[in-house]
Amino acid sequence: MINKILTAEPVIEGAGVKLKRVFGFYEKGELDPFLLFDHFGSPNPNDYLQGFPWHPHRGMETVTYMLEGSVEHADSLGNKGVINNGDVQWMTAGSGIIHQEMPLNYNGEMQGFQLWVNLPKKLKMTKPKYRDILSEQIPIINMNENVKVKLISGEYLNKKGAVTDLGIEIFYLDVNIENADVFEYEINSEYTVFAYVYEGDAMFFDSKSVIDKNQMALFNKGNQIKVTTTNSVKFLLIGGKPLNEPIAWQGPIVMNTQEELQQAFVEYRNGTFIK
Ligand code: MN
Repeated sequence: MINKILTAEPVIEGAGVKLKRVFGFYEKGELDPFLLFDHFGSPNPNDYLQGFPWHPHRGMETVTYMLEGSVEHADSLGNKGVINNGDVQWMTAGSGIIHQEMPLNYNGEMQGFQLWVNLPKKLKMTKPKYRDILSEQIPIINMNENVKVKLISGEYLNKKGAVTDLGIEIFYLDVNIENADVFEYEINSEYTVFAYVYEGDAMFFDSKSVIDKNQMALFNKGNQIKVTTTNSVKFLLIGGKPLNEPIAWQGPIVMNTQEELQQAFVEYRNGTFIK
């Protein structure tokens, strides 16, 4: 059953980017291991071209999934590149990166998602890592002619997702249902699982629980997910095993203790942040 429904709220982030925040900074406990989830996008480049200039991350991961448009990134490791329509960037900040994420002008509605995933204590200071996954590298499972599942990470019908080298257990699916069909997914009963609808609407479990566009449903643990739609729906289905560790969190740095958090900011100021 559904534990809670959240509706994405407008916020301004980075250097003035208008985006929709689904969750972040408030619901720390019940969404463990997830920290924040943003849905960005607009038909108006003035809403996003300011981008996210140089900023640090430590102790967590960012997962950026572009539906439409392009984001150029560059970082303190010397990486530089562009992620385009359908591509994913899965970044493990670990001990620390300083990067910038700048959306490029796009003729149409730029759209994408960024998820923040917490890292367990034992991986907080791991070596930073980027995974740039091209759209064509992401397996698409056609359950039938009406149900398509893009498998970014995790497993579905014995197939593995594009990202397999994670230190934590996370599944990330993009599900597309047409012609009022049904999708079912069996989940590990320990996992925190949520669905975010970005197009159309759908009923999760039964007809009383309709989730509309720009809404997220957080599920009770231990359910088998069953989704039906009267027409068509596109949604992300994301789950992960809770870490159950203390969180000391400020902005883009997420540690276990206040001392570690203060240490990170001291290092950022005195130029020793990058290991
Ligand atoms: Mn960032």
